[in-house]
Amino acid sequence: MMGVQQQQSSLFYNLNLDTRIRADHPLRKISQLIDFDFVYDEVKRFYGRNGNESVPPPVVIKLMLLLVFYNVRSERELMDTLPERLDWLWFLGYDLDSSIPNHSVLSKARKRWGMEVFSKLFQRTVAQCVTSGLVDGSKIFMDSSLVKANASNNSVIDMEDLTNQLREDYKKLEARLEERNDSSRQYVKKNSRYVSTTDPDAAIVNRGTSKLLFQVHRVVDEKAEVITATEATPGDVNEGHRMMPLVEQHQKNTGTAVSTVVADTKYGTIENFLACHDSGIEAHVPDLQRVSYKRVAQRGLFTEEGFQYNGDTDSYTCPAGHQLKRMKLHLKRSSIDYKAPSKVCAACKLKPQCTEGKSGRSIKRHLRQAELDVMREKSRSDESKKDIKTRQHLMERSFAYATRFNFDRARWRGLIKMHIQEYLTCAIQNIKKLMKTMEPLDQSVAN
Ligand code: SF4
Repeated sequence: MMGVQQQQSSLFYNLNLDTRIRADHPLRKISQLIDFDFVYDEVKRFYGRNGNESVPPPVVIKLMLLLVFYNVRSERELMDTLPERLDWLWFLGYDLDSSIPNHSVLSKARKRWGMEVFSKLFQRTVAQCVTSGLVDGSKIFMDSSLVKANASNNSVIDMEDLTNQLREDYKKLEARLEERNDSSRQYVKKNSRYVSTTDPDAAIVNRGTSKLLFQVHRVVDEKAEVITATEATPGDVNEGHRMMPLVEQHQKNTGTAVSTVVADTKYGTIENFLACHDSGIEAHVPDLQRVSYKRVAQRGLFTEEGFQYNGDTDSYTCPAGHQLKRMKLHLKRSSIDYKAPSKVCAACKLKPQCTEGKSGRSIKRHLRQAELDVMREKSRSDESKKDIKTRQHLMERSFAYATRFNFDRARWRGLIKMHIQEYLTCAIQNIKKLMKTMEPLDQSVAN
């Protein structure tokens, strides 16, 4: 049965906790900014009408906020410290002789509620930032950062190793993989061969050394650096694939249409340029194709820029002045191959600078190349270059600030709990922005 919070008694041994909390105490400001009672409606479906009365849901979510806000190492430590902290007791609506819940109420609540209520908390902070004029909403900045999973590398097993398949923990792992809900399944991990038996949602990522990682993806608005959208995924998910879902989430959370998205090279894929084109969004994103051009140039070969497309004849002219004609349509790649006759290339003096292949050089043209060219041209504009520079500092600040809330290490296990941690962290970062807009409170009014 869901418990409902009673107001704290105002006096206890002639002590009113409220008088002990200074007017500008951060927790007093948070209490003013956020009405935690919204949690009742969000979670009531998880409670029956009879049975033991639970810890009131707003208290549970406040406890989780305290855990992250004060970067307390564990829930046990939080509960042990709670009776000694007047400000925490006051924030929770407790008085000095309130009984302190067992630390297990937090893990039980996470399991029972899932991540939805935490997402709602984050969304409410975004909405408040919008109402307070802290969000412009039209130009967004995007990036991702890796988070260490709460699991050891020793827990990783090779799913293709037959000897592993006989082990008891392999069978348990298989059962857990089956049980995983849709939110874990929607991300396709690149590496599904090596799986952690402790946290199967984390992914092995090799960045010099192999580590078990998650990844958090964020959208930050430039005006006051409010986080307007966020998502957690396994560590090896391609961040470029998360661009449009994050754009949609930002638009939903802020109620503002995006006109420009700013991100780094990893987001500069053909799919993203075309998706932005179709949504009327300017992509201030370095072109990923430039990276492959650089590699080609380093090998001493002509890049595709050395080939001129002629719309009238639907062909390319190569650096030696020969014509590359339309050859093959690749529906899967949405591209057409253009090629000079093999004999022409074999006899060409420029061949050593053009191709290492025996059959000559071919050029791939996307079916929507004209639209791509427009988007790529805009991504090289002065304004785009300026935004790309701004993005680096802005996103670094957002992630660097989050490290004081232990954001770079997963507190719990599983993707849903990684989401919960990220929603709490982002909600706190946004609340911090809102706190700056508050007038200093008169202590007499506060009390
Ligand atoms: S190798 Fe072929 S495509 Fe390349 S420059 Fe020579 S003729 Fe043109």
